[in-house]
Amino acid sequence: MKWMTHLTCWFSLFGLFSFGSALAESPIANSSPSQPIPLTLKTSGPWKIIESPNFRCWSQLPEAEARQLTESCEAWRSRLRTAWITEADRADWSPKCEVYVHANQPAYNQTLRRPGDASVGSTSMNFDQGRTVYRRIDVRADASDWSNAALPHELTHVVLGERFGGHALPRWADEGIAMLSESAEKHRERLENFQGVLTTRTTFKISDLVTTKGMPAPHLRDAFYGQSLALSSLLVRKSTPAKFADFIEESIRIGHDQALKNHYSLNGVTALQQEWNDWVKQPQSVSFVSLPIQVGKTPAVAAMLE
Ligand SMILES: [Zn+2]
Repeated sequence: MKWMTHLTCWFSLFGLFSFGSALAESPIANSSPSQPIPLTLKTSGPWKIIESPNFRCWSQLPEAEARQLTESCEAWRSRLRTAWITEADRADWSPKCEVYVHANQPAYNQTLRRPGDASVGSTSMNFDQGRTVYRRIDVRADASDWSNAALPHELTHVVLGERFGGHALPRWADEGIAMLSESAEKHRERLENFQGVLTTRTTFKISDLVTTKGMPAPHLRDAFYGQSLALSSLLVRKSTPAKFADFIEESIRIGHDQALKNHYSLNGVTALQQEWNDWVKQPQSVSFVSLPIQVGKTPAVAAMLE
């Protein structure tokens, strides 16, 4: 039996922390589905554990917010699978995705055994021959935008794990796709940072960006994350999110050059670089795709977003 541990991003960018009594006022995204979701509540010590068909959410939030959190996870799961999985089956996730909402950084770091880690969200998954056998998200409720930026970002990684059957995505695409789900406010913050990078001409060459592995050094992160989100946006705009995922899948097998020809009629990474250069000549013209808006155009998801 082959097991693979797939530890994805540590969502931690741009000083988004707001220390204080964020637990009591954390805004859970209002994304209740049109159909009521069956929820059960248990408690274990300080934890409220709310179970839905696909999630087991552990938090110390007030009960109403804990329920809203779980409903929000279900809504995001549907939304993300609609976007990224062409023929998503309707089966529930088994095992369920565990979601832990930690009260603060010390609790988060202690649980994950990462002393000093300043991230606010992380995802881990295990796969057995392409099937997900473990899904887990940890987020920090003392970050101001944990529920509408970090949580959908991490949920995207979980859905991508399902879509790609445990095969590692190129780093730029894994993070670029995850960032498409973040809030408009988070996008504004990232865009401001990235336009600064464009102005100082410190972006990656596309050939370097698409082959970057692991976490870039701290001084390169604004460039890496901003450019990954921008490049994902550029390619998603050419067709659909699901077709972008097909392109990424093929690029893993046959390389970016041939996959760009097959999916976007571009003559490899060189042509993509040229198109990129034209786009970013005016940093003000760069913008990001917002996935909730993009997929909100389909009737089923639009109804869910109302
Ligand atoms: Zn990530």
